[in-house]
Amino acid sequence: MNPVLLIHLNQIHEDGLHLEGEVPSEILDLEDPLYRPTGPIQYSLDLGISGHSFFATGSLSLDFTLECVVCLRDFQRRLRLDEFAMQLDLTGPETVDLTPYVREDILLALPTHPHCDWDGKSVCPGAAAILSKTEQESRGSSVAPSGSAAWDALNKLNIQPDP
Ligand SMILES: [Zn+2]
Repeated sequence: MNPVLLIHLNQIHEDGLHLEGEVPSEILDLEDPLYRPTGPIQYSLDLGISGHSFFATGSLSLDFTLECVVCLRDFQRRLRLDEFAMQLDLTGPETVDLTPYVREDILLALPTHPHCDWDGKSVCPGAAAILSKTEQESRGSSVAPSGSAAWDALNKLNIQPDP
């Protein structure tokens, strides 16, 4: 594992260079307790030189533990950037450090107000409490259809006795 994303330009051939690997999430230098990386940054990058400029495109991904701004519970989220792109005019140095570019793109992509129901599958207890209160006010005490569907699924899971 490379400590940083330091690219030696002589590694890059005419048809470019594809790089995949991991760098420690410590390069992000995150001090906000809302965002806690739980693994390394994984990258898959295509590097190239065109004239006097160096460019890199590709994807970055990283797992986080985030704190929901509504219910304050921790939840996991994978951050994935598929359109990482940077370009740099070459002025002499034989190496390019991609670390600051990777860091900046990831920090910009972090959700400003993390919500634990971001994936549409989880239910935020905080948001659900607000929602059910609204529902009760507008619909009375009717039972949501999803509730009975859940019981049907449970009934189908009845454990069979051993033969
Ligand atoms: Zn929540």
